[in-house]
Amino acid sequence: MFQNTKNIKPFEKKVWLSSPTMHGDEQKWVNDAFVKNWITTAGENINEVEKIVAERIGVKYAVALSCGTAALHLATKLAGEKLYGQAKPNCGTLQGHKVFCSDMTFDATINPVAYEDGEAVFIDTEPDTWNMCPKALEKAFEIYPDVRLVVVAHLYGIPGKIDEIREICNCHGALIVEDAAESFGATYKSKETGGFGDFGAISFNGNKIITGSSGGMFLTNSKEDADKVRKWSTQSREAAPWYQHEEIGYNYRMSNIIAGIVRGQMNYLDEHIAQKRAIYERYKKGFEGLPVTMNPFDSANSVPNYWLSCMLIKPEAMCRQVRSENEPMYIAEKGKTCPTEILETLAKFNAEGRPIWKPMHMQPIYRMNPFVTANGNGRGQSNAYIDCGEANDVGADIFARGLCLPSDNKMTPEQQDIIIEIIRSCFE
Ligand SMILES: *Cc1c(COP(=O)(O)O)cnc(C)c1O
Repeated sequence: MFQNTKNIKPFEKKVWLSSPTMHGDEQKWVNDAFVKNWITTAGENINEVEKIVAERIGVKYAVALSCGTAALHLATKLAGEKLYGQAKPNCGTLQGHKVFCSDMTFDATINPVAYEDGEAVFIDTEPDTWNMCPKALEKAFEIYPDVRLVVVAHLYGIPGKIDEIREICNCHGALIVEDAAESFGATYKSKETGGFGDFGAISFNGNKIITGSSGGMFLTNSKEDADKVRKWSTQSREAAPWYQHEEIGYNYRMSNIIAGIVRGQMNYLDEHIAQKRAIYERYKKGFEGLPVTMNPFDSANSVPNYWLSCMLIKPEAMCRQVRSENEPMYIAEKGKTCPTEILETLAKFNAEGRPIWKPMHMQPIYRMNPFVTANGNGRGQSNAYIDCGEANDVGADIFARGLCLPSDNKMTPEQQDIIIEIIRSCFE
């Protein structure tokens, strides 16, 4: 093992998973806010960024918020209010109702269901795009026919099968909250992600495809919904000379400084996507002959933004690996490897990878929540945990065999070639 890495030295400067890439225009708009003294949650940068993001995604309205999580929270709250009516001040709008949620995602996607007192029912992942499995969603509606809300994410910048999901939701009169935090700029059937749901969310967190250091946007085609979210995000003030409140409010509005950074970054979204795509393709080529696949997408219907390049090790090339709640362990084996070994090896050479998002149904905090797989098994059903082969718990399998690769758009082709060599050495 590792014979070929003998002559490789660790990177002097760390190669990141995905770090911010600034171009200079950002500084200009931040300075503009300083000069005009709009150092607050209002100003030209906010208005402009709302306009250009709505135009890009093809929705009528975008509301600039402090983060993607805030956008998802208000989207989920709004969905609950539409479905079940306005809640009492000390209650969430979901009031104990079940909500179908993507399972393999960041917890920010689905925590808002808990904020609003709903119960997340996790829907298994499908192997084709690593997103919510439409078949499992259909099964879930068979098991829980009263559910009226689906929260769905597009992972790592690859669109899920959102039109199949939309069709299923239409059949059951369900609303969709669409989490496009990782997929800004990706399209499905030529339409931008974030615009498919009844309510959408994107994020400008520091490691996303473009960033404001933080920030997010709520997306909708309804003026009424946009106005409501804007009102909630600024402490729910009523039209009155004093601070008058009829509803619970939040301090979720985007700052005009952050908006300046986002405004500058918007011109470079397509450039970043092109760079991330080149990284994905370089990995794909570099791994030829290895028992691995890249994170897959539906090339007939979708154009990803390639935010993170990921790989999946074939079962026959996996050495033994176990993970407790907070520690991994593996047994090295000739000709085989595992995500833990690869991540440790990358770290040794000063490069940053990351495990796949650990599925929500495997998280201690959600261990009592139902989980539905494509074959209708899973957790919380009468036949829970019957082993039915491949269709059982796709998410756990991708978590075990997959990992996110260094995908920074400032990584040079030479650095990436070295990373490919380091990874190849793990299979020796
Ligand atoms: C980053 C991210 C979020 C949250 O965005 P923040 O701006 O960090 O609050 C939500 N969902 C997914 C899938 C994400 O990757």
